[in-house]
Amino acid sequence: MSPRQSGRAWTRSGHSPFRACRADDAQRTFDAFAVERDSLDVEVDGVVFKFDDVATQQRLGMTSHHPRGAVAYKFAADAGMTTLRAVEWSVSRTGTITPVAIVEPVQLSGATVTRATLHNLSNLKRLGLKLGDAVELVRRGGVIPHLETTHGGGTELVAPPEQCPGCGAPTRIVETTRKLADGVVTTQILMCERPAECMASRHREILHYCATLELEGFGEKVIDVLLERGLVSDVADLYTLSADQLAGLPRFGPVLIDNLLREVDKARTVDLAAFLRALGIDSLGKHAAEILARRWTLDEIRALAPTDIAELHSLGAITGQSIVDGLHQRTALINKLLRQVRVVRKEADTAAGKGPLAGHVVVFTGALQHMTRRDAQQRVVQLGGLAGDSVTKETTWLVVAQDELDAPKASSKLAKARKLQAAGEPIKILSETEFMAAIAGAA
Ligand SMILES: [Zn+2]
Repeated sequence: MSPRQSGRAWTRSGHSPFRACRADDAQRTFDAFAVERDSLDVEVDGVVFKFDDVATQQRLGMTSHHPRGAVAYKFAADAGMTTLRAVEWSVSRTGTITPVAIVEPVQLSGATVTRATLHNLSNLKRLGLKLGDAVELVRRGGVIPHLETTHGGGTELVAPPEQCPGCGAPTRIVETTRKLADGVVTTQILMCERPAECMASRHREILHYCATLELEGFGEKVIDVLLERGLVSDVADLYTLSADQLAGLPRFGPVLIDNLLREVDKARTVDLAAFLRALGIDSLGKHAAEILARRWTLDEIRALAPTDIAELHSLGAITGQSIVDGLHQRTALINKLLRQVRVVRKEADTAAGKGPLAGHVVVFTGALQHMTRRDAQQRVVQLGGLAGDSVTKETTWLVVAQDELDAPKASSKLAKARKLQAAGEPIKILSETEFMAAIAGAA
């Protein structure tokens, strides 16, 4: 078969691939080469068009630089300079933690690129990357660009995490060696200390995130597949899933893929309280999240000390510590999420302290008859008040359920409230009926 008849690029050993085409087919031929270039045996950066008879070439002659009978068309640039903004660490199914460069958007091979692989710890160390560095990205073969070289300019050296970003377990460095013709190459790889638990904990976290933000379709099985295939290693990766990635998965039909991606899109703007809950931090459930979100922005919450929370409305010292620790452990994850998600505060939240119960700190004791304690606390928060778990000087109302009013001995909360009253503190003691009447007017 001659190249003239062949539809594909034709390569002779030692030569560039070539193909015959008519002049009015030049664009189509160029496009075909652009598609096939990754499967060619040689690296090509463009196509040279030449007249295929020597007589015409000679008749056209030369300009001062080049022959008129040949012209080179380059493919869109597949290398580009940009700035390193951050390095994310992605945990694989086996516990390998891979660095990924996050860069200022740059055009590469006609696509906008914001991420590039850094392969492994050795490579990161070799590059000596600093945040803010001017870096060179190259895209050849494959879809994922590589960060090839740095031209410096940054200030903060990128250090590998001491804790696994997936599960919080310590990390360790593993060395692998490969024998090559000209010696032995040692590669350092960062690993999670507890890969099995890591996988399970990431599974739980992703499931919790999806359930909290009501991402339909992201059940146990789907999350299993996404983790197994390495398409996600944490919740932030959900936002970078593409139809192409999902299309190759078993039992992922076009309808399911469409639905999943639409659900993810819905969760690109997230209410602050829901965002806090979705992080899966112990003690940062619905109630605490609402209280924090009502009072502060996410940045402010991330900067809180345990005492700020404990002092609040009796969330308590243990809760305060647990929330602060949990947020701290998830620093990298939260930063990664914030590159994908816009966190907003609800209207009611920004109007904090303006509701009918503004300024009130309400504590409940005993078993309420008309609602659960949690619902009652929620109601207080919705009306602009704060709900506390224990009686302090801050408490303005203590709501005492009938069973405790009937009890022969006052509960510790009731006793404390009476003591505070006796000391002149402005705390009011209400029955459940009085409380219901008070909030009925407010609602
Ligand atoms: Zn881990």
